[in-house]
Amino acid sequence: MRDDLTDMIIHDLRSPLTSINLGLDLLGKSIDDPGRRQNAPSLLSGSKTSVQRMMALIDQLLDVARLEMGRLPIVAKPAPLAALLREKAAQFLPQAENDGKRLEVVARPDLPTVPMDRELIGRVLDNLLSNALKYTRTGGYVALRAACNGYSVVVQVVDDGEGVTPEQAAHIFDKFYQVKDDAGKPMRRGTGLGLTFCKLVVEAHNGRIWLESQPGNGSIFSFTLPFNPEN
Ligand code: ADP
Repeated sequence: MRDDLTDMIIHDLRSPLTSINLGLDLLGKSIDDPGRRQNAPSLLSGSKTSVQRMMALIDQLLDVARLEMGRLPIVAKPAPLAALLREKAAQFLPQAENDGKRLEVVARPDLPTVPMDRELIGRVLDNLLSNALKYTRTGGYVALRAACNGYSVVVQVVDDGEGVTPEQAAHIFDKFYQVKDDAGKPMRRGTGLGLTFCKLVVEAHNGRIWLESQPGNGSIFSFTLPFNPEN
């Protein structure tokens, strides 16, 4: 965990800070040198992107820390799950289409109303859907499924992408865990915090989250949200 934290600080915080620092130096030079002034807008927007990336990472770190300490307020109110799933699919459809991937929702419209913090469960779906699209090749398939199972709704994010080995699956919800390639580099840009966030949010709703996957054969991330049938 310590090594992972050091890795994260070096790659996700120090590198953008270095590039912002360089950008500021160059911007400073462009003030006195009219010949360099045309570079100013791209230096500014590059630095802004780095700052935003760092802020998003810090927010994610803080949310995970607050969830671990039970200090992130969960505002669970009965909400129709089918509507949230449709909303999330619509949000990711342009990205899927742009990347040449198929995205569909397979859920009955009469799914029960489930007590949930809509904003936090929405962010769980954001993480799972963006991963599913990130780890699926062009021409791939991603589905958002939901069905009732007793007094729980089971939500699944399914992809036919690269999948993970059982050893990788065993650690996938660990803080900072990232699947690395043979050279020890993460397969894609990321922080290893997204799935930790998902697990903590689902557990704060008294649900469970798990992964079924095989290398080369896709992944199914499932989570449950319990409900009371009398409400
Ligand atoms: P990151 O921000 O690095 O993607 P996550 O916690 O979301 O962090 O994911 C942890 C690791 O799990 C990633 O490094 C990735 O390799 C693997 N992973 C997550 N989702 C999938 C998926 N749908 N298919 C294959 N691998 C995945």
